[in-house]
Amino acid sequence: MTMPMTTSMSIMIGSQKAHFPQTRPPTTLMSTAHLRPPAFSANRSSPCRVTFSDESETTTAQSKKNWTYTKSRAQGPADTLPHTYAFDHARRIGARRTRLSPVSSAADAMRDEYKVEHYPSTITPTAERANSGFGRTPLKLGRGSLTHVETDAQVYLQPIMSLGTYAATRNNWGRAMLLKPLAWAIWGAPLAVLVMVEPSPAVAEVRIFACEPEWAALASEIGGDAVSVYAGTHGRQDPHYIRMRPSLIEHVRRADVLFCTGAGLEDGWLPVLLQLGASASLQHGQPGHLIASEHVRLLDPPSVVDRRPRHVHAEGNPHVQLLPENIGYMASELARRLVVIDPENTETYRQQLSAFQERWRGASAGWMERSSRLAGMPVVAYHESWAYLYEWTGIRQAAAIERLPGVPPTVSHLQEVLELARSAGARAILRAPYEPTKGMEWLSDRAGIPIVELPFTVGGLEGVDNLFDLFDVTLALLEEVHDQY
Ligand SMILES: [Zn+2]
Repeated sequence: MTMPMTTSMSIMIGSQKAHFPQTRPPTTLMSTAHLRPPAFSANRSSPCRVTFSDESETTTAQSKKNWTYTKSRAQGPADTLPHTYAFDHARRIGARRTRLSPVSSAADAMRDEYKVEHYPSTITPTAERANSGFGRTPLKLGRGSLTHVETDAQVYLQPIMSLGTYAATRNNWGRAMLLKPLAWAIWGAPLAVLVMVEPSPAVAEVRIFACEPEWAALASEIGGDAVSVYAGTHGRQDPHYIRMRPSLIEHVRRADVLFCTGAGLEDGWLPVLLQLGASASLQHGQPGHLIASEHVRLLDPPSVVDRRPRHVHAEGNPHVQLLPENIGYMASELARRLVVIDPENTETYRQQLSAFQERWRGASAGWMERSSRLAGMPVVAYHESWAYLYEWTGIRQAAAIERLPGVPPTVSHLQEVLELARSAGARAILRAPYEPTKGMEWLSDRAGIPIVELPFTVGGLEGVDNLFDLFDVTLALLEEVHDQY
């Protein structure tokens, strides 16, 4: 069992009182040493009163024989009997706040005890029942994503017995008070017993780490309830420039399948991530290592003839998700891998794949039909983001604002783009949600054409929640360009 590295703070609301006779001196120190739970009995007729027997206080009784703690309600009120103590039950409710320690170095990140998540802290409701000043039983219920699946739900039952000394005193009104801070400082911890119950999931899910949202969406379609999916990036992030962060290491470390684009798109962060966090089953050549660009035809591949420097598309255009048939290929490939990794759910994966493919084929046919009137429509783009979209819609890119993929424009290049846009009669400037608008606005003003933001991936625009939405919304926006401008 792994434990999160946490610091905790508890806020408890409740009360605990001690009664002791008026004849006692105002302050009394008691020594206690419990090596077993104190023998106590709850008096049914007085549910809030607990009485101790002699044997619960063996150590104390030896040193101060005049202190006996035998008392029951039936013998009369505690306050009237000298040398007799009785402690009230205490029931408290509260909250426990837990903060996760940050990972400060790559070496830390590799250590097993580090658990890092997106959520830096969590609040856990707690309830505590104190049998007496000597023993208490906190119950802590935790729920949430503190450390991922294994500890999503926790129940702590923690009997604590005292060891040491605590003090009781009487205030000016003659009421007994426990000196809690003193008691607190020397209590409990040495003999604390921790019982931790971790409900384990009925079925172990295959954990899929998807580098981009489109693969996360596809993994959810094919894996359904048999998988849990984590997307390393979201739809409004530039996938070319993802920064490493500790939570990625944690998710890759736990993953059974890595599902990414490849073709250099994740070169800035994925190799480090695999080195730091991934198990052998996620390395290249394993069924758990699924790279889309190895299964589809790449557009704009590097050639010996073309020796221009390519900043980010050195291995070909990686934005393969915008060709519907690529999604279909990857659905089949993913299902093949899942069957190998999780053979027990073979039938589930097969059914989900065939249901998805049927829907996908139907939808694709509709998109093809709708796209026919877009064929030949000239546009300008910022980056070579849309090559696969052009492939099936027939839309023609007159120019790109970037000089080369990943290389920002210069003034003279923008002038060229303007000329090209004008001469081609470009209808719009296509923009992925994360692309900079500066050069686009300049061009938009001078060429008199709108900047049209397309979703690019799942989550790129509001309402684009799955792969079907991605193509539906993209087409609808392009149709609008076609009809209005
Ligand atoms: Zn790119």
